Parts: sequence; C-alpha cells; structure tokens
Amino acid sequence: MRVLIIEDERRLSSVIKKGLVEDGFAVDQAFDGEEGLFLARSEAYDLIILDLTLSKVDGMQICSQLRKKNIKTPIIMLTAKITMEDKIKGLDIGADDYMTKPFSFLELRSRIHALIRRSKQHASSQLSIADLEVDPLKHSVIRAGKQIRLTPKELAVLEFLMHHKQEVVSRTMILEHVWDYNFDGMSNIVDVFIATLRKKIDGGHKQKLIHTIHGVGYKIGEKGV
Ligand code: CA
Repeated sequence: MRVLIIEDERRLSSVIKKGLVEDGFAVDQAFDGEEGLFLARSEAYDLIILDLTLSKVDGMQICSQLRKKNIKTPIIMLTAKITMEDKIKGLDIGADDYMTKPFSFLELRSRIHALIRRSKQHASSQLSIADLEVDPLKHSVIRAGKQIRLTPKELAVLEFLMHHKQEVVSRTMILEHVWDYNFDGMSNIVDVFIATLRKKIDGGHKQKLIHTIHGVGYKIGEKGV
C-alpha cells in the first residue's frame, strides 16, 4: 500500500514514515501544502495523512480540492487541537478520520489499516483465498495451517494482489502501490518479488495461487486463466 504524508513537522513525518515502512508501506512525504496537493493529485495513493496547518496551502483546502477533483483517496487529518467546529468542517469536506496530536503511532497504524480495509471494502483485517490467509496488521501469512515468513515488501506485494484477488493486476499497478516516488531500482523488480512469493506461497502445493497473465501482469486466484 502506498501512503502520502503531508506534514511540515519533519520529525513527526519521519517517525510516521519509519513505522509505515517497517509495515511494508511505500511512503512519500510532502513538507508543505503545495507539494502535498501536487503529489496527491498526480500519484496513486491508497491513503493520505494530512496535517491541518501547513504553509502555502492548508490541510482543509487540500482536502476540499481533492474531493472536488473527485479523488476519493482516504484521508486522515492530523491536528494539534481539534474543536468540534473543525471536526464538522473536516468531515463535511471529505476527511475520513482524525488524529489529535500527540498520538501514538500504534493508534495511527490501526486507523490506517482500518481505513484502507474500508476503502477496499474488506470487512475483516484478514484476507483469504483457498487455504491462504493473510493478516497485514499482524504480519501473518498462513498457507494450509503453516506460517510463512515474508519480508515487509513481499507482504506488501502479496497484500496488493489479495486486495485484487481474481483480478489481473499489471506490473505498473503493483509498482505504483508498493514502491514510492523515489524508487528507481530495477525495472524487473516486480517479477523478482513475484518469483520469490511463488516459491514461498505456492512451493510444495499442488494448487497454484499466483498466476502469470502473459503480456498483462499477475493474478492471485484459485484457478489460472
Ligand atoms: Ca503543521
């Protein structure tokens, strides 16, 4: 999953980023409102963490401009102290949740996961297909009752496929949601990760879950094409 943090307090921004990267998220940072609005409008994010008080363009304006452009990315607003009035205004212009500073990272993390689930219309934190069960919040991957160890990035690729199970996703879609703006690594990185996931998820199992759709991309599903 890919997250944009729009926050001018660099220390806070990097603490949040560090925690999310450990969870396998791809994280971009913007340190003022203008840069934030630009990135939010041009890149594919699964969630935006948006501070209210920013230079150039404030959080309320960013939120309302995104919604006016019909960009529906879930937004969590961060604010030093929130009044009832702010809360109502923020919800009116389309924010999905609030965190009042100071907050614990764990609280933010569980709200992020909840919002992403809601936006992908998954009721529970667990994603499953056949005998494979994935719980991103607990970093847990189990196939046929056996725990499988994945790195955060491997888990992120698997989670993305699971959110789109039975659908074909292209390499570009995976890249855009699992790696951040600054990524300029190998062009075949997605294939490398899929190969590793295949080994770990499908290795030794008769039923293969990860399928290659030639010329298009990949699919996780109970059956191939
Ligand atoms: Ca601020």
